[in-house]
Amino acid sequence: MPSAPFKKILIANRGEIAVRIISACKELGIQTVAVYSEADRYSSHVRFADQAICIGPAKSARSYLDQPSIISAAEITNVDAIHPGYGFLSENPGFAEVCETSEIKFIGPKPAVIRLMGVKEQARAFMRQMGVPVLPGSTGVLGSPEEALETAECIGYPVILKASAGGGGRGMRVVNRPDELAGLFAQAQSEAGSAFSSPDLYLEKYIAAPRHIEFQVLGDEHQGVEILGERECSIQRRHQKLLEESPSLAVSDAQRAEIGAALRRALAAAGYSNAGTVEFLMDEDGKLYFIEVNARVQVEHPVTEFVTGIDIVKSQIRIAQGERLEEILPGPVTLRGHAIECRINAENPDTFVPSPGRITGFHAPGGIGVRVDTWAYTDCVVPPYYDSLLAKLITYGNDRGEAIRRMQRALSMFIVEGIYTSIPLHQRILADPDFQAGKFDTNFVKRFMPAGK
Ligand code: ADP
Repeated sequence: MPSAPFKKILIANRGEIAVRIISACKELGIQTVAVYSEADRYSSHVRFADQAICIGPAKSARSYLDQPSIISAAEITNVDAIHPGYGFLSENPGFAEVCETSEIKFIGPKPAVIRLMGVKEQARAFMRQMGVPVLPGSTGVLGSPEEALETAECIGYPVILKASAGGGGRGMRVVNRPDELAGLFAQAQSEAGSAFSSPDLYLEKYIAAPRHIEFQVLGDEHQGVEILGERECSIQRRHQKLLEESPSLAVSDAQRAEIGAALRRALAAAGYSNAGTVEFLMDEDGKLYFIEVNARVQVEHPVTEFVTGIDIVKSQIRIAQGERLEEILPGPVTLRGHAIECRINAENPDTFVPSPGRITGFHAPGGIGVRVDTWAYTDCVVPPYYDSLLAKLITYGNDRGEAIRRMQRALSMFIVEGIYTSIPLHQRILADPDFQAGKFDTNFVKRFMPAGK
């Protein structure tokens, strides 16, 4: 049953994504409620929302992750729905359930689908069953180092141990030889246990020089699924993305169509609704293998918005209102031109050490084909408690060359004073002949790091 349009939405997040969601709500004529921690009292999302409620102290566990405080804020302000953004509670099936029982719409997939996709080795099994190519690896959670050893012998070294509940590029160990396995297994298990409160591990083939390719999907609540092309996110530091683009130079039209068709079948069968991203690694022979699903909006969604002309966040809200994709999308999905995003982090560009503090001067670039998503402004304070993402600079061009040159000029006009940012690193990446020629893999950024890092 399609529900009535939302009148008011609470945004259970902070930073640039909270501002992004508020923007979508304003354009849809929906009122907004911001929640904030004591450290974010002067943050832009608090200023731009129609109402704002302080939900606790700086530490995320006592504010942005505190479900009772967020639900109370939603009940006091009488909202129809909660948008969780990314990170924090966005992929927490328990929170989606609490919203449901409180009769507040959770803007995301159904709890059971979030749960399936969140247990990575189960998501792998599901995709394998549905005929999506998956990296060779274990078929379930590894019971012991001996079982890991047997599986590794079958698929051949190197292999990678990964946390079943993992995320953010953490808790992974590359195993090159059988004699290393037991020690790395113990390390990965204890790291996973403390970071994700589950020690479960699985194992898959390690690709030495992969490209990270991911497909943006939208599903409605009536079994409709659309694929909005792919993004390439191979420019990473420590398994975390720094620069993303769409489309990928490495994906052929035939491959895009083939993976798109397989994903459409799989996600419709899963009952997938709302926005999501299906991540793949491309091996040295150009073959794509599924690695995981992110059941939420992603940081890098704007590059897809530029090349498809589709507003992903507004689509999320309209899907949650019960609308069908045919009503939401302007027509068949087509990719036009090229878009690039640089993540401007508050961190030292050489060491990646976070750089919180007061921004004494701030100027964001503009002009044709330039978009800046940020929460920052002159005199704001970057708190030390959260993710270091300060702004996203996205450029669009008729082709990749134009998008690159536009990014270079926009970076040169982006001023952030008082703290370190990743801007100089992005300038080095964009000037690199291999980057410009599209010759890179996930190891690319290592060439800009001090030796031994
Ligand atoms: P997370 O959920 O922690 O982000 P992912 O499974 O998405 O973990 O992997 C993050 C990154 O780690 C990938 O983009 C890639 O750089 C690297 N990685 C993950 N699995 C493999 C693999 N099997 N072989 C090589 N690199 C990998």
